[in-house]
Amino acid sequence: MKLPTRLIHNRKGNPERRTVNPPVERASTVLLPDRGALYGSGTGYGRMGLSVHRELEAALCEIEGAAHARLTPSGLSACAVGIASAVRAGDHVLLSDSVYGPTRRFCEKRLPKMGVSSARFNPRDLAALERAITPQTKLIVLEAPGSLTFEISDTPAIVKMARQAGVLTMMDNTWSAGVYHRPLDLGVDISVQALTKYMVGHADAFGGAVMTTKPAHGAAVEALTEDWGISLGPDDAYAALRGTRTLFTRLSAHQESALGLARWLQTQPDVALVIHPTLPSHPDHEIWRRDFSGSSGLFGFLLDAPDDAHIDAFLSALNLFKMGFSWGGFESLVIPCDEQLTRLPDDWTAHRQGRLVRLHAGLEDPGDLKADLERGLRALHDVKNT
Ligand SMILES: *Cc1c(COP(=O)(O)O)cnc(C)c1O
Repeated sequence: MKLPTRLIHNRKGNPERRTVNPPVERASTVLLPDRGALYGSGTGYGRMGLSVHRELEAALCEIEGAAHARLTPSGLSACAVGIASAVRAGDHVLLSDSVYGPTRRFCEKRLPKMGVSSARFNPRDLAALERAITPQTKLIVLEAPGSLTFEISDTPAIVKMARQAGVLTMMDNTWSAGVYHRPLDLGVDISVQALTKYMVGHADAFGGAVMTTKPAHGAAVEALTEDWGISLGPDDAYAALRGTRTLFTRLSAHQESALGLARWLQTQPDVALVIHPTLPSHPDHEIWRRDFSGSSGLFGFLLDAPDDAHIDAFLSALNLFKMGFSWGGFESLVIPCDEQLTRLPDDWTAHRQGRLVRLHAGLEDPGDLKADLERGLRALHDVKNT
């Protein structure tokens, strides 16, 4: 059976269960029958997760091709746990320059307090990455495509390089939700996702997951989350599990809508560049074709907006694309990105032509979304002509 079918029929646990969905057990205390079970069951306390958690972990293992999945209360905590599970004091981490900003902050501000150093590398410069590996390097952190700027590194080449140097690799796989990209199949050691995005799919809960293929590493992740007291609440776990049932259907709609908008935006005179890996003009298009089986609803473009008045006219004319952080829900979103771009000097964004805008194509009618962007571009054009 194909994965969408398996996700719908994933009912791990109690064979006596007659409901389609698992019960949401809101519990700290778990009652156990005897002394042996109290101390030996491994699931003797609510923090370790109950029915919903086990079913969600099983679904995530199916999606990512993982042997082990551990849940965390947010995507960011999944990134932090994934990184912390691979390093100790004295180690060094290399992270792609385009990873999610708060993950970068964790590496650059928090890890030093734990005796771990880090450095960034340009996701398109593998020679520089190879030179940056030191004897202390233990982990390379990747994200595909990169947050805001959508670079896709050559993951198999990086995995090969890392293995030769005895270095682990971690991928933030949130963009594809694991549906269109399986980093563990490419030899990546740790895959993490913000379940908050497509898994939950309705912008109403947080969640994260750390997935591995190696039991020993899975046990290390589990021990770390237990020592730090990290767990995901049952209602949020339920929201993510429910999302897995419709994940494929939703993602294919997000994908179609985003592709249509990206192609149309390419024809617009005030759009300097559309940044979507499925477009042949994207510098990493060939890598995307080789390593991905589809694309999601999130992409960017450069708007020819000479000053703030132009970009503000564009943004405020939009009615359906609402401004706000996060993505992966049913609604369309827009954010201007220049305000949060702090990149290495050799990065392409330093000499970009236009203001970087990120769109999330939601599940509204694609024609309505196009009309909305048309409204924004017309407003920008009006400012240019005054
Ligand atoms: C949103 C996001 C995160 C963080 O997820 P939260 O649940 O908001 O903490 C991590 N990585 C990527 C790529 C994201 O887009």
